[in-house]
Amino acid sequence: MKIILATRNPGKIAELRRILSDFDIVGLEEFPQIGDVAETGVTFEENALLKAHAVARQSGLPAVADDSGLCVDVLNGMPGVFSARWSGRHGDDQANLDLLLAQVSDVPEERLAAHFTCCAALALPDGRFRTVEGLLPGRLIRTPRGANGFGYDPILVPEGETRTTAELSAEEKDAISHRGRAFRALAPIVRELL
Ligand code: IMP
Repeated sequence: MKIILATRNPGKIAELRRILSDFDIVGLEEFPQIGDVAETGVTFEENALLKAHAVARQSGLPAVADDSGLCVDVLNGMPGVFSARWSGRHGDDQANLDLLLAQVSDVPEERLAAHFTCCAALALPDGRFRTVEGLLPGRLIRTPRGANGFGYDPILVPEGETRTTAELSAEEKDAISHRGRAFRALAPIVRELL
């Protein structure tokens, strides 16, 4: 059975393929007629559902979408759904990270609790849907470390780790990551509904 993952990110497609190996997972690049869906929601769940419903409706196939971000306790959960555009420029990882570090520059590191969140949504062409959430709890450090990953990885140290998520291998990060957890929680739901 074919499922579309509503992304053009090859890393996310590979990760979902490893978790749902009994399904035929395809990305949006195979559907050039489906345009980008604006992330106008104010929660991760709303954005994941916007994307999953739009892609399921336009393709006639079951669609999975995810929305994720970094939530910092002392910033009341921000950048949250604005993680990718925190500095005002969508996708400028360095500017987003620099602005966040400037904002918490007076807060002692031991008080910088934060977590990555991912909401994964499954939507069917008939309108049925389910959502699940995965979290990766940790704390922020002020001096970025590591060259793997993307976004805020160089400043997030997961609970029980001394390394940042940018210092973990892809396999180590998949095993504990918010996205890995959300995709794995979605797998039995996909099998139940399809
Ligand atoms: P999206 O869900 O792919 O749109 O990601 C939203 C934004 O959240 C990214 O641009 C990153 O800034 C941040 N983010 C989400 N997941 C991660 C992660 O695993 N590592 C680092 N940053 C992340």
